[in-house]
Parts: sequence; structure tokens; C-alpha cells
Amino acid sequence: MSKRLIIVGGGPAGYVAAIRAAQLGADVHLIEKEHIGGVCLNVGCIPTKAMLHVAETYQAVLNGNSIGICADNVNVEWPKVLAYKNSVVNRLVLGVQGLLKANRVTIHHGHATVRSPKSVELNGAEMEADSIVLAVGSEPSRPDFPGSDLPGLLDSTAALNLESIPESLIILGGGVIGVEFAVMFRNFGCNVTIVEMLPRILPGMDADIVEQFQIELARKGISILTGARLTEVSGNGSELCAHIDVNGQPIERTAEKMLIAVGRRPRINGIGLKETGVTVEHGRIVVDDCFRTSIPGIYAVGDCSSTMMLAHVGSAQGIAAVEHALGHTTAYVGHIIPACVYSNPEIASVGLTEEQARAQGIHFKTGVFPLAGNGKAIIESNGTGMIKIIAGSRHGEIIGVHIVGPRATDLIAEAALAMRLEATVTELVSTIHAHPTVSEAMPEAALAVDGLSIHWPPGMKHNQGAL
Ligand SMILES: Cc1cc2nc3c(=O)[nH]c(=O)nc-3n(C[C@H](O)[C@H](O)[C@H](O)COP(=O)(O)OP(=O)(O)OC[C@H]3O[C@@H](n4cnc5c(N)ncnc54)[C@H](O)[C@@H]3O)c2cc1C
Repeated sequence: MSKRLIIVGGGPAGYVAAIRAAQLGADVHLIEKEHIGGVCLNVGCIPTKAMLHVAETYQAVLNGNSIGICADNVNVEWPKVLAYKNSVVNRLVLGVQGLLKANRVTIHHGHATVRSPKSVELNGAEMEADSIVLAVGSEPSRPDFPGSDLPGLLDSTAALNLESIPESLIILGGGVIGVEFAVMFRNFGCNVTIVEMLPRILPGMDADIVEQFQIELARKGISILTGARLTEVSGNGSELCAHIDVNGQPIERTAEKMLIAVGRRPRINGIGLKETGVTVEHGRIVVDDCFRTSIPGIYAVGDCSSTMMLAHVGSAQGIAAVEHALGHTTAYVGHIIPACVYSNPEIASVGLTEEQARAQGIHFKTGVFPLAGNGKAIIESNGTGMIKIIAGSRHGEIIGVHIVGPRATDLIAEAALAMRLEATVTELVSTIHAHPTVSEAMPEAALAVDGLSIHWPPGMKHNQGAL
């Protein structure tokens, strides 16, 4: 007889787990209280990328003069932008619903509460299963400061559905979500200020990459305050005033709207964890390497339990959890996770940064190849950006790759695969890459580890300008 599985949450962790479990022959019941696709499809990854795409296209047309595209009266028709974004979301949500149906996953609507290791309560009725997978996701963190309840303060969901493009926007938080919104709204013509408490934006990303990225943001006209702590927000009805302490100096910035993007927290209240005895630490469900919680039979995956709150992480964990629950061996490789910023330029990264490698006492060497030496990058983005490879100093094994520039978010897949296969820089170099592509910069960066790039002059530093 097939095993019965209940999966709570239909985001990228839950719906992917459901499909995989169905492939393995389980009788799968997926419970979702809002929308199939979760945060990612409905108010996260997909709508933001759709709007970033429109904003970037708008800028490309506005600045098309230099490449011979001359268009007058270029405007943004905001309702159409929102309609396009919604159409992409709806198409993907319908697609996932179709996939679940085609895999014979039963979808239930409502708020599920865990009642025992083998049962959940849904809409007043008890449902039983051999295993339960919690994939309940996360919600925006809401910091408390004077003025935090004023109208005009937005979370990311509200920022995706504004009635018009604000003239000015303050973004509290210079992490990935804050930066993506900053670039999107700036490209739509809004005046944007990022307020970040830490010494630099995008903490955790490679310092050289972020430095070059910040130069690009400044070139776009995005104002960045680092070492900046918001103390209060006041408002006069039409404008918000942010009171900020910048390295001990009080300053004020005004804007029409303010986006709070200081991170997300697991959404785990009111789902029966305490009553069932599932261990929670620092607001997160505790799991082991196989995504088992402290209660046998209950698994947790995705944002509700992971320190890396990314859709692809949740999906990979969902697959691993149901494979384990159904008695199969799993292959979750949690130390090679690409992380991307879908801004303009893009950033992508996998493996260790120099700082992390140093902290772990690893002996390494680095190779940097500026995209000013790559034909396709010059065609597409004026040669802005670079690839940095970090490799073990003895064998040249790749331990980290960091990219800023065009197509970075696609290029990073090659780096992740290289790391997964424990490839060395020599193997990257001897893999022939098509010309002209930005991917040619990957073997060039690998060659740079030994100072042997073909398309960059020997001895010239990566930040010494274009060829
Ligand atoms: C603006 C924004 C942009 C983002 N961009 C990216 C990106 O580009 N790339 C990326 O990898 N990640 C991105 N993320 C993060 C990504 O969206 C999350 O990591 C991902 O959605 C987590 O998936 P999940 O399945 O764990 O949870 P969620 O997507 O949060 O899904 C959880 C689901 O569970 C349901 N649920 C919760 N409790 C219950 C209950 N008791 N009963 C029934 N159903 C319940 C919820 O309604 C929800 O649908 C972004 C996030 C935001 C906010």
C-alpha cells in the first residue's frame, strides 16, 4: 500500500516536495491556506523579476540613442506594468496547479494545524498520514520604531502593488530584496535612498563585487547610506521623514514612501508546534541533515527551517525530505548554493568568499577577470563587471565564484556544477566555451588565478579600466 503524506504549504518547498513524493508513488495531500506557489510565485521571486525586467527594458529604450534606437515620448504605463506582472504570476500559478493535478496530488484549501506526529487538523476535520512535511514559509520582519505604523510604510508585497510609481522612496535594508527594489524603482525614474545599518550593502557577498556594484548603483543615482540606523519616522500626510543616525551623526531624509526590507522570519505561529513538541530555536524549526524535526515523522523544509531563505534551497530540501520519508537515499548538497541579485548589473555567487575562506584557514589564490575584456559583455553592458574565482592554492580546486555583470545569474550555474564535480581551474580552462559569450570570461578568470588570462594585459589590475 502506498504511503500517505501530508505537506503543509504550497510554496516552492511544498509543491516540489509534493510532486517528487507523487513520483515516488505516495498518496500526497498538499494543504495551502492562501495561494499555490507561495511567496515565491505570488509576491516574491517571480513578480519582482517581471517588474525588474520591465524597468530594465524601459531604461534600455530611454538610453537607446547610443546604439541607434531613437524613440520619443517613452512612457511607463503603470497599470499595464502591473497587469503584465500579474499575468506572469497567474500563468505560473496555473502551471503549478496543473502539474500537481497531473501528478495526482490532492490539493486542500485552509489553515492546517499539526495535532500529532501523524495528524493535522484542517477546517475542523482531522487528517492522518504516515509523515507530515511542514513547508509553511516565512513573512516579512517588522521592526518596531517610532512611526512604524504610519501610512506610506510598505512591505515588499505592498511595494509590488502600488497605485503609481512613487516620486521618491527610502528603502530600509540593503540586503538582496532591498537592493532589487532599489534598482527596479530607480530604473522606473524614482529617487531612491537605501539605508543600511551595516558598513556595506549586501552583507555576506564578496567585498570586491559589492564595491564594483555600489559604483554602478551610484552611477544610476541611487543614494546609499551605510552605518545608518533608522531611529524614527515622522510624517506630514504627504511625505515621510526618516530620522537616521549615520555613524553617530543625526540626519534626515524625506520621501513619498518607505519600504521596510530588513529580512524575513519563519511563519510558524499557530500551527501546533508547541503542542506537538516540535523544537524551535531562534524562531526557526530545528531539523537534522534529513530535514527531520525533533518529532519522528514530522519534517520541515524551506524558509520555516532553513537559514538560507531561497526558493531553490526550499525545493531541494523538499525533494530530500520526501525521499527520506519514503525510504529512498537522498543527495542534498547544502554547501553549494548559488545566491543571486537580479539587479542591473546582476550579481551571482556560489561557495566561499575570500573573507570566509580566510576565516576557515583555507590557503587559496584568486583570479579576477574584468568583463571589459569580454566581447559579449561589451556589446551588452559596456563591459561592466567582473568574475572572481577563488581556488585552493595547492590543487586549484574551485571553492568560490563571484560575478557582477550581465548574465551573472545564469553563469553561476556553471560554477555551481564545477564545484559539485570538484573541478579545478585547469579543468575549467580546458572546457571550450562558445564565442562570443559572457561565459568565456569563466575560463579567463580561471586563467587569471595564475596571472595567465588571454584577453587582459599582464600586470594590469582588474580595476584599472577598460581595454
Ligand atoms: C520580494 C521577494 C523576492 C524574492 N526573490 C527571490 C529570488 O529571486 N530567488 C529566490 O530564490 N528567493 C527569493 N525570495 C525568497 C523566496 O520567495 C522564498 O525563499 C520561498 O518562497 C520560500 O519557499 P517556501 O516554500 O519555504 O515558503 P513560502 O513560499 O513562504 O510558502 C509557504 C506557503 O505555506 C502556506 N502556509 C503557511 N502556513 C500554512 C498553514 N498553517 N496551512 C496551510 N498553508 C500554510 C503559505 O500560505 C504559503 O503559500 C524572495 C522573497 C521575496 C519576499
